[in-house]
Amino acid sequence: MQDDWTPSDTPPPAEGPLVDTFGRIGDDLRVSVTDRCNFRCTYCMPAEGLQWLPRAEILTFEEITRLAGVFRSLGVRSVKLTGGEPTVRADLPTLVRMLRAEGGDLEISMTSNGILLDRLAIPLAEAGLDRVTVSCDSLMRHRFAEMTRRDALDKVLRGIEAAEAAGLTPIKINCVVIGGQNEGEAVDFARFARRTGHEVRFIEYMPLDADQKWERAKVVPNSQVLEAIDREFPLVAAEGQPMPASTYRFADGAPGAIGVISSVSEPFCDTCNRLRLTSDGQLRACLFSLDEVDLRGPLRAGATDQELEGLIRTGVWRKWEGHRINHPDFVRPARSMSMIGG
Ligand code: SAM
Repeated sequence: MQDDWTPSDTPPPAEGPLVDTFGRIGDDLRVSVTDRCNFRCTYCMPAEGLQWLPRAEILTFEEITRLAGVFRSLGVRSVKLTGGEPTVRADLPTLVRMLRAEGGDLEISMTSNGILLDRLAIPLAEAGLDRVTVSCDSLMRHRFAEMTRRDALDKVLRGIEAAEAAGLTPIKINCVVIGGQNEGEAVDFARFARRTGHEVRFIEYMPLDADQKWERAKVVPNSQVLEAIDREFPLVAAEGQPMPASTYRFADGAPGAIGVISSVSEPFCDTCNRLRLTSDGQLRACLFSLDEVDLRGPLRAGATDQELEGLIRTGVWRKWEGHRINHPDFVRPARSMSMIGG
């Protein structure tokens, strides 16, 4: 990012897709449906949880669907439900059904810890969910319990199977790698990918934990993860890979894939197409943004779609060039990952 960069005072284009001043198009929307979570991952949330948002502050299904419709009219093509843990929001399939009715061509996916998927996968698929990403940081029961503070590996693995049986595919598995904890499991996860056919995506540990205990020394660069896997199972870059994840296939043609999200060691801000709507209706153009655009207030005050469109266009237009994790002047956002919606 240019050191002297300040948000542009020029107005955003009144037509066309959601674009920022650097020419990036925002067409992928992450919608947090709750700030609550039934896990307490050490790198995300304190053991005792957080101060949850009051119910009245959380967007209703009708409000989420209305906003999703406005985003869709502005070129957003995919919506990912997240949180907190999205499956703890009551009646989640109803929201999926409403979003599906709003946009038949919208890709609707969800990121979940998977623990409730054994009973929710079928209702969610029937409601119109296309696919899921399930977070799983260890394939070893004790380490999984240590990292998530829940002894739930078996249930999560059953959730992944239920998602596959329900057709919520292709399934991706998100694995946050933390130095001194699960960094030695890369090859085991590669075996898991080959056996199940799922894509395992390794995510670098980011300074977004509520406890603020993040240390650079605990970030394991994805280049190390890829090297470890490549020594055992040679990898080839996948063609036409979606950004920002870089995806690799197994050179021997085995099923499954390996993805890397290297937000710390190799930021991909110049191709980032992601936008985020928090559970309390704030638009964030970057995970690390220090400011948000309030959509809930105007929505509840009776704003027209055109007025909401103006707010959204301005919020995206003012997206900064990139996050500053690797700069001495990095400032953490006030909200942590589960409050933003990862
Ligand atoms: N509860 C859902 C889940 O487990 O996928 C969705 C929300 S969770 C905040 C989304 C993703 O963010 C998960 O894959 C989680 O592991 C990841 N995450 C949370 N804190 C993180 C951090 N400090 N650094 C990197 N990834 C993090």
